[in-house]
Amino acid sequence: MGIRNFINQLLESDDDPFHPPPSSVGAPSDVGESSVGEPPDPGLVRALAETLRAVGEGSFDMDDADGDEVRARFEEMARRVESRDPSTLRTLAENVSTHRRRERHWVTKTMRDMADTVVGLAHRLGRNVVLDRASDGKVDGQLHRLKAAAASENPSHLRKEVLSAVEQIASAVREREDRQRSEMAAIARQLESLKAELAHTRKEMAIDGLTRLYNRASLDEHLRNIHAIAVLSGRSACLLMIDLDHFKNVNDTHGHQAGDAVLKSVADLLAKSFPRRGDFVARYGGEEFVVVLSEDDVSTGTMLATRLLERCRQLVVAWEGVEIQVRLSVGVAGFEGDGEVGDWLARADEAMYQAKEEGRDRVVAG
Ligand code: GH3
Ligand code: MG
Ligand code: MG
Repeated sequence: MGIRNFINQLLESDDDPFHPPPSSVGAPSDVGESSVGEPPDPGLVRALAETLRAVGEGSFDMDDADGDEVRARFEEMARRVESRDPSTLRTLAENVSTHRRRERHWVTKTMRDMADTVVGLAHRLGRNVVLDRASDGKVDGQLHRLKAAAASENPSHLRKEVLSAVEQIASAVREREDRQRSEMAAIARQLESLKAELAHTRKEMAIDGLTRLYNRASLDEHLRNIHAIAVLSGRSACLLMIDLDHFKNVNDTHGHQAGDAVLKSVADLLAKSFPRRGDFVARYGGEEFVVVLSEDDVSTGTMLATRLLERCRQLVVAWEGVEIQVRLSVGVAGFEGDGEVGDWLARADEAMYQAKEEGRDRVVAG
């Protein structure tokens, strides 16, 4: 039974545009004989609703669509199918296939872009190997002539060959450096597009159960990727290490569950405060959070962290009749192309501890 056929059965309506008039029953048509006059099978209604939910569950971010929104749309469709809303049922097949076409288009385009990137990198690598070999060959030839000149014991000839060798080697090194610089710039441009892909795939990463933010393992993976791209591209990135001030007091005064509620509220505030596609918010552990800003330098990171603190001062967590206030200390560390991931994190951590030492409730840029 085709989807239209099935939907018609659900509609049970004489004026259904997909439903054949009685005279055409038995004629070749979208609608099978079994659909006419039979009550819709509740099992099929359930199956269709579950199928819609399953399609929605598999949704992912695309250029022009947010995975969560698509999921919510499919959930809504499933609920309408369960309530047998006729207007939804009539447009269901069209809506599902339009969505499917968009997904196919996006996946095909993304795969092609990725393939172009890899092939582009392979071309560059290959061309460089050839050019390096050619230049190594020239230098080799010059060194051979130098050796021969040294053996000939002719000082003026030897002097000429030494000068020529120096010239040749210096020019080969210069050429190689120029080439590497322009190659790096070209590769960096290509890698920029991968940043968006990282944002698309990150939805699949593991999340922390309490706060629904990315967990430590996801953070480590994301940081490695952003670090690798920043090293190659020479573009800035920035890390915020965020720690709740005197959080132990919250647990001690109001109980562990109140503490959990505070952590959730802070997590929500962070998610709202860093909504851009290049932003990544994770729970680092306990009452510590990390935000990775893949496009920003340390001054923008500091400005955003300061804004976060202002918002946090307005935050009040209501818990069993009491209002709990939260304060944060933030360490900011920019990445400008040098150093390992661990050092970058350590700098943010040190800046955060300095913020604690200076009195808490403040931002320190490391
Ligand atoms: P400081 O301003 O120096 O950061 O003080 P602090 O009290 O925030 O820091 P400390 O490291 O002394 O205490 C952190 C507390 O966070 C202790 C720990 O019990 C609590 N904590 C860690 N994870 C959780 C959690 O998942 N839920 C709750 N409720 N508490 C947690
Ligand atoms: Mg801490
Ligand atoms: Mg703390």
